[in-house]
Amino acid sequence: GDRTETLEFQAEARQLLQLMVHSIYSNKDIFLRELISNASDALDKLRLESLIDKDLDVDTSDLHIELDVDPEQRTLTVRDNGIGMSRDEVVNLIGTIARSGTAELLRKLKESQDAAASRELIGQFGVGFYATFMVADKVTLVTRRAGQSEGTRWESAGEGTYVIEPVDDVPQGTSVTVHLKPEDSEDRLHDYAAEPTIREIVKRYSDFIAWPIRMGTDDETQTLNSMKALWARSRDEVDEAEYHEFYKHVSHDWADPLEIIHMRAEGMFEYEALLFIPSHAPFDLFLREGRRGVQLYVKRVFIMDDCDALMPNYLRFVKGVVDAHDLSLNISREILQQDRQIQVVRRRLVKKVLSTVKDLMTIHPERYRTFWNEFGRAVKEGLIEDPDNQELLLDLVSVASTHDPDQPTTLRQYVERMKEGQKDIYYMTGESRSMIEKSPHMEAFHTKGYEVLLLTDPVDEVWVERIAQFDGKPLQSIAKGQVDLDGADDATPEREQQRNDFTPLLTWLTGKLSDQVKEVRLSSRLTTSPACVVGDTYDMTPTLEKMYRAMGQ
Ligand code: ADP
Ligand code: MG
Repeated sequence: GDRTETLEFQAEARQLLQLMVHSIYSNKDIFLRELISNASDALDKLRLESLIDKDLDVDTSDLHIELDVDPEQRTLTVRDNGIGMSRDEVVNLIGTIARSGTAELLRKLKESQDAAASRELIGQFGVGFYATFMVADKVTLVTRRAGQSEGTRWESAGEGTYVIEPVDDVPQGTSVTVHLKPEDSEDRLHDYAAEPTIREIVKRYSDFIAWPIRMGTDDETQTLNSMKALWARSRDEVDEAEYHEFYKHVSHDWADPLEIIHMRAEGMFEYEALLFIPSHAPFDLFLREGRRGVQLYVKRVFIMDDCDALMPNYLRFVKGVVDAHDLSLNISREILQQDRQIQVVRRRLVKKVLSTVKDLMTIHPERYRTFWNEFGRAVKEGLIEDPDNQELLLDLVSVASTHDPDQPTTLRQYVERMKEGQKDIYYMTGESRSMIEKSPHMEAFHTKGYEVLLLTDPVDEVWVERIAQFDGKPLQSIAKGQVDLDGADDATPEREQQRNDFTPLLTWLTGKLSDQVKEVRLSSRLTTSPACVVGDTYDMTPTLEKMYRAMGQ
């Protein structure tokens, strides 16, 4: 028609599409999981909207997902009667990728030579709708937003552009028709225009979807999934593969999770929680608008994604679902933050996640290693953010140390190795291990055989300042204040004599350098370097100064 427009995909979207078309995945089946996942989300959103807004003119009596295969035309259609999209939503949600960090991810992908590494990178992103272009040479989407009268038709071959036009007489919701590429037709197992293939894929990846997924044959319509809410079932009724598929649905991850936490509370405030610790960090873990989260349900009704009232910021990588039974459906984020019961649930969830990691340390040390490598930097923020769990968190921390160049150490292990008479836990912060090791501050500690923790993450600067002690042992920076290595040294007559001899020189130096330093004093901490600059006990370290400056403070 004359209102047909040809528009260009946004640059980042175009690049992602290219990746999909020249697929780097070996498993193409998952495109169907992505479409069903979107349909399910759309049904969740519609139900919630209709519960909150009683005047919304929509029919919610038979919410479902419908699959349709046409072997002659070689098409597969996924249809839902959910929330649908307006024209602008189609342009902004399908034609654009609004997630921050996408450009950076694409740059890394371009640089990466190795296919496995690329797969991993893109897996951290989760490509969603575009996965259809692994199997399609054309995709047609027809949609109508609930409560609006005009529909929208969108079509693209996954190259630079798409066509968009208004259409009449569109049922509410969205239908996506995948025009299958011809080259897959020989492969019987992956013939997506064949009903048995589709039935099997749905069973494998989408069985737990809470809405009926139907497929019609000539004389009957079958529901393909069991629709069991996984979190409401008991642990021994769910097998690992089911947990894994559910995890992929809620997390948009393509890899299996590292740990599964399934809990249920009865009594005063009833809830079920099914949480997952991923096996790798998402690419946007340290971006402020990074995707995160735990979803909130109320008695099986989806309420919101990324429910930050349920998980502190430092555990933002934990994924999953919490189904609380006694909340109002139209509860807002602000009210949730204040809700006392939610605060109780949150405390329990945090304790459970932390104790799960602690158990990993003893039962599966190599899995703990993976956890710490991926998420340690975020978890350390908890030492600042969450004073209530400080002790538990300190038990989880691993840091580099002079004890072993290859193995990080826990604070507990450090304490067990402390020398006779050593009172403090020594550490030094800096930009890199090699820079710290070359520092003149290290000399005496090295010579005298004291172990020093080497802290190189910017966040380390902050928590070591906050944590006064571990297991009764003060944390002491070797670059700050007076470090008394052998206690007795300072009181010897020889030392006293030296001090007297050097007083004029030190006074003169202090005067000369008054713009640069506070004081010049004799030190026992050096063995080969003639002098070094030491921070005052309460001064900011250079890295911290830099960090605050970068944050604009
Ligand atoms: P994600 O699901 O991770 O957000 P997708 O690429 O799968 O990413 O989808 C992008 C967006 O397009 C969705 O967030 C949603 O807003 C919209 N969308 C996709 N499919 C549908 C659908 N069937 N109904 C309504 N909106 C949809
Ligand atoms: Mg999706």
